[in-house]
Amino acid sequence: MGSCLFCRIIKKEAPSRIIYEDPEVVAFEDIHPQAPVHILVVPRKHIDSLLQITAEDQDVMDRLFGVANRIAKDRGIASRGYRTVINCGPAGGQTVYHLHLHLLGGRQMIWPPG
Ligand code: 5GP
Ligand code: ZN
Repeated sequence: MGSCLFCRIIKKEAPSRIIYEDPEVVAFEDIHPQAPVHILVVPRKHIDSLLQITAEDQDVMDRLFGVANRIAKDRGIASRGYRTVINCGPAGGQTVYHLHLHLLGGRQMIWPPG
């Protein structure tokens, strides 16, 4: 997946503000933040979208949410509350086809989302 933007960010071939990385997961600042805290948490493994998740990816899904929770605590948004979002497919608003979890916080979220 040489042309995938997030694969290039993970391999540090494209610039980003990486705030966390481990053997399975990388987290970096969203380039167009929609909240005071807006972090993208991504698996190192290229997976196009939530639709492509298989049973063998369950561990990595657990890791995505675990890392998001840890960052939320580190950034001081955990106690007040925050939002995690995974957009899937065109109608779901997905624009980058490398699975990613949005961690959004630091302001009051509204419902329904846009
Ligand atoms: P999606 O719409 O696929 O759920 O989310 C893609 C996210 O990636 C958007 O929030 C967008 O701002 C972010 N994004 C797009 N290009 C870049 C980039 O080059 N660097 C970073 N850090 N974020 C990006
Ligand atoms: Zn990728």
